[in-house]
Amino acid sequence: MKPAPFDYRRPATLAEAVAALAGEPNAKVLAGGQSLVPLLSMRLAAPAMLVDINGIPGLDAIEVVTDDGVGGVRVGALARHAAVLASPEVRRVQPLVSLALANVAHATIRNRGTTVGSIVHADAAAEMPVVLSLLAGSLDVEGPGGRRTIPASELYLGPLESSVGHDEIAVSAYFPALAPGAGVAFEEIARRHGDYALVGAAALVDGDSVRVGYLSVSDVPTVVDLSGVADDDLGEAALAQLDPAADIHASAAYRAQLVRVLTGRVVRSARAFAEEGT
Ligand SMILES: Cc1cc2nc3c(=O)[nH]c(=O)nc-3n(C[C@H](O)[C@H](O)[C@H](O)COP(=O)(O)OP(=O)(O)OC[C@H]3O[C@@H](n4cnc5c(N)ncnc54)[C@H](O)[C@@H]3O)c2cc1C
Repeated sequence: MKPAPFDYRRPATLAEAVAALAGEPNAKVLAGGQSLVPLLSMRLAAPAMLVDINGIPGLDAIEVVTDDGVGGVRVGALARHAAVLASPEVRRVQPLVSLALANVAHATIRNRGTTVGSIVHADAAAEMPVVLSLLAGSLDVEGPGGRRTIPASELYLGPLESSVGHDEIAVSAYFPALAPGAGVAFEEIARRHGDYALVGAAALVDGDSVRVGYLSVSDVPTVVDLSGVADDDLGEAALAQLDPAADIHASAAYRAQLVRVLTGRVVRSARAFAEEGT
């Protein structure tokens, strides 16, 4: 199928892009197009206008932040998955971003798709929304009222629904650094490497704190606190806080079994990471 007709703008500045969005309530931002273009082609989305942000300079930066007391990495809206995955700075400062990105789609899609676009798209089967949620990161957005920061805890409202306004452009995502002595791990089960996961899990262990985030389990990225849970009980404790759903890809019972298995695995791996530092 072909997309329904739409108007197309390619602004040269962020201010022009914000003005274009403000002038058309049914406009959509176009970043890498790896999720939006298939939706247009299948006519699951029919925006009146696309505001292509690829001509705006300066949005592709990947920066290490050291002056905010915590430290972290800031990923610009036009930084492609492939560039973020290849960044040694990202791997050093917050290795969970790199571990998870290696599971995002295939190389051709990572060459074009953006990490920030994935976070805004709010697919509960995607890796980066879960990583941002587990790390308690944030998203900076710019709209007619200026710039604001949305904490990950306030970002995901429902399936494919984020709290980024229709007239706002996400300019960067912030991933806090891994604390000294903490550990992370990521695992997912997919039919083929690069496919969306049937279930995925990311763990963050920091001292006694054990938290695990899940993709493809609920309608939104979901993080559970497993601090103080005995190793043998991790899977069941996680399931007590989750309600895995069935779809055409997997039954609810199979997803629950994947949660049991992956939870123990990622927590053990994150503990090993914390002990060995890698
Ligand atoms: C075959 C295939 C397999 C894939 N597998 C995976 C996978 O395993 N895991 C995974 O996570 N993803 C996967 N993806 C999706 C891929 O990661 C996309 O790149 C990503 O979801 C969206 O990024 P994008 O830059 O392409 O955004 P686009 O497609 O351009 O936009 C997606 C949505 O986000 C909005 N948006 C994008 N950027 C901004 C912004 N800066 N400000 C405001 N709104 C914005 C758009 O308006 C649109 O609604 C797959 C895609 C394909 C085609």
